[in-house]
Amino acid sequence: MNKAKPRQSRAGVARIGDRGSSNETNAGIAQRRKKENASTVRKLIMDKSDKIFVAGHEGMVGSALVRRLESGGFRNLLVRGKSKLDLRDKSAVDEFFAQEEPAVVILAAAKVGGIKANNDYPVEFLLENLQVQNNVIQTAYEKRVRKLLFLGSSCIYPKLAPQPIPETALLSGPLEPTNEAYAIAKIAGIKLCQAYAREYGANFISVMPTNLYGPNDNFDLETSHVLAALLRKAHDAKTRKDRKLIVWGSGKPRREFLHVDDLASACVLLLEKYDSPEIINIGCGEDISIQELAELICDVVGFDGELAWDITKPDGTPRKLLDVTKLKALGWKPSIQLREGISQTYAWFVANHDR
Ligand code: NDP
Repeated sequence: MNKAKPRQSRAGVARIGDRGSSNETNAGIAQRRKKENASTVRKLIMDKSDKIFVAGHEGMVGSALVRRLESGGFRNLLVRGKSKLDLRDKSAVDEFFAQEEPAVVILAAAKVGGIKANNDYPVEFLLENLQVQNNVIQTAYEKRVRKLLFLGSSCIYPKLAPQPIPETALLSGPLEPTNEAYAIAKIAGIKLCQAYAREYGANFISVMPTNLYGPNDNFDLETSHVLAALLRKAHDAKTRKDRKLIVWGSGKPRREFLHVDDLASACVLLLEKYDSPEIINIGCGEDISIQELAELICDVVGFDGELAWDITKPDGTPRKLLDVTKLKALGWKPSIQLREGISQTYAWFVANHDR
């Protein structure tokens, strides 16, 4: 009988199902694979010709990553819209990876929404996100992807996390109940990446971005996040020549906002320089009150009416700011100031939504 040798990928990664010798234990196999992988996968030198699959490229984050990679000279980007490749379908994902053989994967496809959508559709937020991330992460390992970047989120830290929020706060307390389903799915994605790294030496990293805004944001008032919602409300109020703009809550809570192009630049840096399975925060390190944000937005939009605060609506957590010490130590800093980013986003909104 022919005894097949363990198969090795071009990157030297042993495949699932490989056996060194017939009496090797599971723990032994894991140890061996980890060693084999550690010497090869851990060093990622991103070549400009590497095939990079950006999953979710039609979304806000995915489209920013495509812009950033293209402007950085990466010329072999791989994208597929949801209508052509539904990442919830494992066999379709298998076939796609087998055909295309991406070297690097950025997983920016997810079911994302604001408080109302998260609260109303916990089944979809939990199940779809688990399906998408399980399929992509597992297939990436099986098909020998050299590096994968998974997007977590600052909103999956515990509701009462210390401020600014350090990476160690993850799983240290109860979650915000309104987005618990989404958070549980995202935490499972991080844990799966860490498990592949620990057990098989895979170079799968997870990042924790703060609140993002920018082109391709969602401006639907039913499902949008605060900055996009305020921008749309101020624009509508200006167009209708209203004298008053009503904003939810007291305006006192403080939040951090990062332009999505800055997020993309941080992700590319981390793909090139960060090889740890430990999560890493991505933020600008500064927060602003919702009142200051609303005033800034009205100024940019040109709405000169009065702001009124509807204090019957909930404020949420008083402050949410990420501790970005780890990211700063790698030499990264944001380059887009909030006013400049809001002006640019408003111009995008007018060009794309207000036609
Ligand atoms: P978007 O909704 O803008 O983009 C997500 C993309 O994923 C969409 O194009 C969506 O397609 C696609 N997608 C969803 N389900 C599937 C599927 N089954 N198969 C293929 N594609 C699918 O979200 P963002 O760009 O804002 O978010 C991307 C990632 O960044 C998420 O993981 C999110 O958690 C993270 N993040 C975002 C933050 C933010 O403020 N926006 C903050 C922190 C983290 P379609 O629209 O057709 O459903």
